[in-house]
Amino acid sequence: MRADELAPALCALTAEHRRRRRPCLESAQGARVVVDGQPLLAFASNDYLGLAAHPRLADAAQAAIHRFGVGAGASHLVCGHSTLHEEAEQRLAAWVGCERALLFGSGYAANLAVITSLLGRDDEVFADRLVHASLNDGCLLSRARFTRFPHNDLVRLEAQLCASRARSKMIVVDAVYSMDGDEAPLPALLALARRHDAWLYVDDAHGFGLTGGGRGALAEYALADERIIYMGTLGKAAGVAGAFVAGSETLIEWLLNRGRSYIYTTALPPALAAATVAALAVMADEPWRRERVFAHARAVQAARLAWRLPQVRLAIHPVIIGGDAETLAVSQALREQGIWVPPIRPPTVPAGQARLRISLSAAHEVGDVARLLAALGQLASCADPNERGA
Ligand code: PMP
Repeated sequence: MRADELAPALCALTAEHRRRRRPCLESAQGARVVVDGQPLLAFASNDYLGLAAHPRLADAAQAAIHRFGVGAGASHLVCGHSTLHEEAEQRLAAWVGCERALLFGSGYAANLAVITSLLGRDDEVFADRLVHASLNDGCLLSRARFTRFPHNDLVRLEAQLCASRARSKMIVVDAVYSMDGDEAPLPALLALARRHDAWLYVDDAHGFGLTGGGRGALAEYALADERIIYMGTLGKAAGVAGAFVAGSETLIEWLLNRGRSYIYTTALPPALAAATVAALAVMADEPWRRERVFAHARAVQAARLAWRLPQVRLAIHPVIIGGDAETLAVSQALREQGIWVPPIRPPTVPAGQARLRISLSAAHEVGDVARLLAALGQLASCADPNERGA
């Protein structure tokens, strides 16, 4: 892209309703936020358990800042690794039921590190077509042969695995799909991975904290195998920031030695490691938070909307409207009523499948969800019938 091409390209994005702008929050995360001066009932964040502003996390972070300061000062391998990081890693490994865990600055960095350190030119990676962008980037960066299979289509995946002559193979999935809210069939995927001697990489960004009694996908299905690599993010249900990879001792030791996006980056601030330990304690002590999200999910699923609402059970519920302009209009109409549900458009989702992404949280009250559903029901009844269920 040349410098003189940027402004016209941005204008084209505006014309296609694809120009992005960032809402600016003037409050902490929670059910009620202030955005660009407007108080809103928010169904927008990934703070599924309502922990981002929980006093126990804030107190843990504050105490850690007083002892360890704000910044980590360096990468983990130089001098940025503290006893707080060490404790968080040990507790995370125990919580998800793996031998060892490794902290990362973000889920994006974790995904790049895992895929690029385990795969190279002679290898092949098989990714579900709907996996998160950071996983796709890791696959591309690894230089392995990059094969995608249709969403949750294990028959096609098996055919692709059978046809592969690669030295090392890896199946890559999201445990919970971020724009669709549905889940990967992990036990069947593990059986395939065993049959074809492949790694199974599970990105549990949207399940960790909710499924498996909060312990995530491996606990949910009682999965344990040396070939499973588990990744959970800490910026969503855990309410903090960063991510971790969990697996066997040897796997983690390899990542620590060969994961470029682990090695060449400053460690997460130690206070965030302390907040992570507090988040795990709250997940254990306050199971009502998960239960409340599941109850909200059942309420959303029971709603009869004219738009397509796929059957899902966790925090993310897409309302598939179809057209970009209509999706934006519905989101805007909700906003005028003080309700914030972000519109998701291409390229994040396929063309013609623009949607509202309802994100539920333990911070919501029953009445908050009822208010959203009433507003959506009313808007759906006056929508263009040609756009419905697109
Ligand atoms: N994986 C998935 C499925 C995600 O949804 C996200 C974030 N939206 C990430 C990875 C990246 O995590 P992070 O925000 O910590 O970089």
